[in-house]
Amino acid sequence: MKMQVECTIPKDDGSLATFVGFRIQHDNARGPMKGGIRYHPEVEPDEVNALAQLMTWKTAVANIPYGGAKGGIGCDPADLTVSELERLTRVFTQKIHDLIGVQTDVPAPDMGTGPQTMAWILDEYSKFHGHSPAVVTGKPVELGGSLGRDAATGRGVLFATEALLKEHGMSVSGQRFIIQGFGNVGSWAAQLISEKGGKVVAVSDITGAIKNTNGLDIPSLLKHSREHRGVKGFHGGDAIDPNSILVEDCDVLVPAALGGVINRENANEIKAKFIVEAANHPTDPEADEILKKKGVVILPDIFANSGGVTVSYFEWVQNIQGFMWDEEKVNNELKTYMTKGFKDVKEMCKTHNCDLRMGAFTLAVNRVARATVLRGWEA
Ligand code: GLU
Repeated sequence: MKMQVECTIPKDDGSLATFVGFRIQHDNARGPMKGGIRYHPEVEPDEVNALAQLMTWKTAVANIPYGGAKGGIGCDPADLTVSELERLTRVFTQKIHDLIGVQTDVPAPDMGTGPQTMAWILDEYSKFHGHSPAVVTGKPVELGGSLGRDAATGRGVLFATEALLKEHGMSVSGQRFIIQGFGNVGSWAAQLISEKGGKVVAVSDITGAIKNTNGLDIPSLLKHSREHRGVKGFHGGDAIDPNSILVEDCDVLVPAALGGVINRENANEIKAKFIVEAANHPTDPEADEILKKKGVVILPDIFANSGGVTVSYFEWVQNIQGFMWDEEKVNNELKTYMTKGFKDVKEMCKTHNCDLRMGAFTLAVNRVARATVLRGWEA
């Protein structure tokens, strides 16, 4: 099911503005459809559709009982005030409330949205259907959100990286990391990787890029970025061209921003030995081939960034049970899922003699196909 809606809201100055929103559902053979809602100027139907499909494969690799969906509104949240964002979110929810539901389709945050967005969706949805906290995940903890959900994608990236490096007889400690993107995913990944002794040598966001070959002081960078709304101007390193960050020297490259950033223009120049895809589809197929020939090991998005949706699942379970887990339980369960996910992907790679991306997709497609057949949907 694909839904496109027009959302007209009064701006704070009294003028009217119209935004186009989408919710695209891809597959529900394994359970309710699941996926984020993105607020970004580049949100358009083909991209949302591709991201909805990725969610189907991601939830299958993670082995959580969901299908895939994605939504979004074509807007620049930085250009809207909080009250404009609230009105836009409520109008969008009024248009899609019959499409989403606890057992049908469960939205969550993505780029440009967060716990507050989920709180507005929950409140608006509940006006039509009664109080239903499990209809969205990534909520504020005060409204039934899970402890550990905010950090979950970044923590999952850490666990996935640990599993990958262990396979190669290495650990996070002492490796040099580059993190492109310092939003929710990138900043948590940087923090948790540096706590484990990883050396984060360069970081970028939309404001700029900072490099320090001795390792950036991540707590200070986080403070700077909160205070100045970006990494630009941080004194604990040298400013570099954000376009060149992906080709700087490092051991592990972590793209944690938009899709398509690793492409044929820069793939040959990449120096990292490992790429951990914290973003969704950061590597285009041409770059994938080039990197494979260079011997770069890529941990694919549908596994590497599945920590977020996995803790979304824990949140949904807690809401349905009406029982809150402590943060230690959330993080321990996440580690169990990520470790098992890596083992399952690796096993597929061995069976089919393929790389990690092919292994992850094969695992996912097999699981979705099996559920489809068991439900009697295929002749
Ligand atoms: N937006 C996140 C993703 O792309 C999380 C989705 C969710 O928790 O449902 O995986």
